[in-house]
Amino acid sequence: MSEALDLTGRVALVTGASRGIGYFLAKELAAAGAHVIAVARTVGGLEELDDEIKEAGGQATLVPLDLTDMAGVDRLGGAIHERWGKLDVLVANAGILGVIAPLGHVEAKVFERVMNINVNATWRLIRSVDPLLRLSDAGRAIIMSSGAAHSAKAYWGPYAASKAAVEAMARSWADETKNLPLRINSVNPGATRTAMRAQAMPGEDPTTLPHPSEIAAKIVPLASPALQETGAIFEARTGKFLRYSMPK
Ligand code: NDP
Repeated sequence: MSEALDLTGRVALVTGASRGIGYFLAKELAAAGAHVIAVARTVGGLEELDDEIKEAGGQATLVPLDLTDMAGVDRLGGAIHERWGKLDVLVANAGILGVIAPLGHVEAKVFERVMNINVNATWRLIRSVDPLLRLSDAGRAIIMSSGAAHSAKAYWGPYAASKAAVEAMARSWADETKNLPLRINSVNPGATRTAMRAQAMPGEDPTTLPHPSEIAAKIVPLASPALQETGAIFEARTGKFLRYSMPK
């Protein structure tokens, strides 16, 4: 599906682009013709991405930024506006697991960090780029969630709460913008062979899991100007859009 995707002349911001799913989403977006703004803390990972994108004839701008630097996140929108005057695609992918532990054993600073990166920084980023996505003729937002937002899984409390929060936020944002050409969806990538998954499940054989490039290829069509769906949860594993029923 991604072969047919044409994002020529479009600008895409991807957080968590230094490794894992975000790295390959950034590569896919660049391969489809988008100028990718790649955000993460690890400069080495961003530079590797930049090399790969440029070798394939694509374009990228690297933004080494810790998303807990909220003033930095606020400045991002202005900087993008100055250079491109719009944003076409937001991929809010950066996230952390925190710790797998009974809720009563979670340290306050760990819980707060999970909420700060997964929820507060995502909201701050949305606030920073919302006006720019509205300036696009087909703004697309992809908000990375997790099956943990829905499953009742012991010991995943902080992470599950953070993902339920971003999903709810994405749905509200989608409803606010439903009469605009904006399309906003959450994504459940499913278990994927990354550093985060290895931290969560250290006993698991990673070769039994799909590679992040495979998952990214399934998610990237959500950036398409042709996408109709908004306010849904895209399940990469099944390719289905799930919806919450709308209470009257
Ligand atoms: P990784 O741990 O491989 O990558 C996480 C990315 O987030 C890295 O690029 C990291 O960059 C970035 N990041 C983390 N903290 C910060 C920060 N403070 N500031 C800026 N960037 C930050 O994770 P995955 O690729 O596995 O996960 C990507 C998304 O998919 C996450 O939102 C995750 O919750 C979700 N997900 C993953 C699943 C899986 O099985 N892998 C399953 C379900 C959901 P750096 O460290 O360089 O800053």
